[in-house]
Amino acid sequence: MVVSPCTADVHTHAETMARPDPMPVDGGVSWRPLALDALRVRQIAWVVLSVFGALALVNVFRERWMSAVFDAGVVALLLLTLWRNARGQSTQAIQLMVLSLALGLAALMFAGQGLYDEAPMAYPTLVVLAAMLGARRLTRALVLFLLASLVLVFVLDQNGILPSIQDSPPWIRLAELALILLVTWMLVQMISNDLTQAIAQLESEKRALLVSRQEIERLVHSDALTGLPNRLLGRDRLEQLLVQRVEDGRIVAVVFLDLDNFKTINDSLGHAAGDALLLQVAVKLRSVLRDTDTVARISGDEFVILLGNLKSEHGIATVITKLTRVFREAFNVNGMDVLVTASMGITVSPRDGEDVDRLLKNADLAMYDAKESGRNTFRFFNTGMNDSVAEQLHLAAGLRTALGNGELCLHYQPQIDFEAGRIVGAEALLRWQHPERGFIPPATFIPVAERCGLIHEIGDWVLRQACLDAQSWREQGLGDLTVAVNVSPLQLRREDFDVVVATALAASGLPGDALELELTESSLVLDTRDLVDMLQRVRRHGVRIAIDDFGTGYSNLGYLRRLSVHRLKIDRSFVDRICADANDEALVRAIVEMAHCLNLSVVAEGVEDAAALQRLRELGCEFGQGYYWSPAVPEVDFVTLVRTKVL
Ligand code: C2E
Ligand code: MG
Ligand code: MG
Repeated sequence: MVVSPCTADVHTHAETMARPDPMPVDGGVSWRPLALDALRVRQIAWVVLSVFGALALVNVFRERWMSAVFDAGVVALLLLTLWRNARGQSTQAIQLMVLSLALGLAALMFAGQGLYDEAPMAYPTLVVLAAMLGARRLTRALVLFLLASLVLVFVLDQNGILPSIQDSPPWIRLAELALILLVTWMLVQMISNDLTQAIAQLESEKRALLVSRQEIERLVHSDALTGLPNRLLGRDRLEQLLVQRVEDGRIVAVVFLDLDNFKTINDSLGHAAGDALLLQVAVKLRSVLRDTDTVARISGDEFVILLGNLKSEHGIATVITKLTRVFREAFNVNGMDVLVTASMGITVSPRDGEDVDRLLKNADLAMYDAKESGRNTFRFFNTGMNDSVAEQLHLAAGLRTALGNGELCLHYQPQIDFEAGRIVGAEALLRWQHPERGFIPPATFIPVAERCGLIHEIGDWVLRQACLDAQSWREQGLGDLTVAVNVSPLQLRREDFDVVVATALAASGLPGDALELELTESSLVLDTRDLVDMLQRVRRHGVRIAIDDFGTGYSNLGYLRRLSVHRLKIDRSFVDRICADANDEALVRAIVEMAHCLNLSVVAEGVEDAAALQRLRELGCEFGQGYYWSPAVPEVDFVTLVRTKVL
């Protein structure tokens, strides 16, 4: 068992709370701000005893026998106080002390100058002392007694019964007043020290209580072995995500993950090894997920992963890929490499449910489905999703090896200058020839490459290859052909993208102005200073920028100026219906006019027939590409096309 320091704290605190009451001064009241210990009682008793002892001697010396007797009586009572106190009877000791002081002061008043005596001046101190002890009944009784003594002296004085007032000589009066002041000061000082200590102790107990409460809170909500949120906190987080989901309309996914062979490991290597493994799994799971995602350990080898704020279900595939990767490598347990696999069940809100219990239950059911399907896999509660996510994972896995296996290649689609009536360049379009599945279109695998991060590796290769090919055309005497390369928004966000471009140009020897980068409007949505800087750095190499699929995305055209764009590529969808739809024609006309005003040239994408070509030329469009001339073809065929000029 893990014993936390806080548990010890809790004990300390509990002990403090259970400590026997050291001083029940009187039976009635329990609240007591000041707990006088035996030492303090002894100190006070000795101070007062010394004072009354001295007074007794002075009175004997002055032959004021009655006062001397009273003083001696008080001394006797104080001795009794000390005796009781020494025997551990502090309650009685305190009562005796207060009683002796009250009697002593009253006696001094009777024997002295009555209401004009100094003794009643010490009454308030006595009351304060009694009150500070928290002994309310005692204090009440004391106040009554002191008041009664004052009234009695008054009555006796009025009736002439009081012994004739004996005036003290001034030095005695001075000494008495000074003594009262000193004793009062000493008592108040002691009480104030005790109070300060009591407050400090209360403060430290409060702090300890706060710390232990926080620790209890943590222990209640976290798993002792891994420190991850436990079932309780996991449920709580899911609850919050679902509330949030209703507000932002996004998607929440719950992944129920169960280790496949944990029991075997536990049984064969022992529980300590099992714990070590669980800890490593927890750390790895945590490390592959975002801080905003929750990983909770809900029991033994079961974890729940909560993904909130998802825009689409595609995001889930990315996370499943990461989770699968966690179990691809062996875990090192006690110096041994242990391979563990996991089965995952996934449920998605709102589609599969909108409350915590239902979602957890559905994810659990899906996890069992995964186990039954042979383990080491995942299953969606909604079986329809299995195929699409499995497909994405399959594609991602295939893409990883596609480059190395030469399955990826570039095809080139010629770009035509209408005026010159010849091919002036080509757009490089990526092709994947999958060994089993045949041709996979870029619209299918580029988004997967973007999601699994392979787009950088693939994009770099495309740039290098396109530059090499374009330079080889020049070297073959095909003219100053340009090459256009599609760039993913993710590539643009890379800090060293300009270096990648420069390297591709340098490695091929292609002049910068023969390379055109096609950016989609969507990559310009994040029109940040970084993007502007990056494009400026790229342009320093002479590279041109074209906006692909123009007209389909972004409406704020300010970027055309800021980013120093060279060309607009009118999206195929407008060109397609240019002869059939007056609106599309109007749009193309507007784009061409705007482009010319901004000194940009225009390429029409997807020109499929002569009528469209005719219309585009009439509208002032200068360049085009499309099936009318040629689809994208392998590099050798493109070279033949240019050579034969068969368009
Ligand atoms: P895109 O850049 O707009 O490419 C034009 C697409 O239109 C190409 O599709 C091309 O084959 C097709 N096309 C050209 N002329 C015609 C025509 O007359 N009629 C019709 N119906 N289609 C025509 P593809 O090759 O399937 O590429 C699709 C998209 O995939 C590209 O759109 C581009 O966004 C992306 N892509 C292709 N290669 C790469 C690449 O290397 N990197 C990146 N990031 N994206 C790429
Ligand atoms: Mg393009
Ligand atoms: Mg396009």
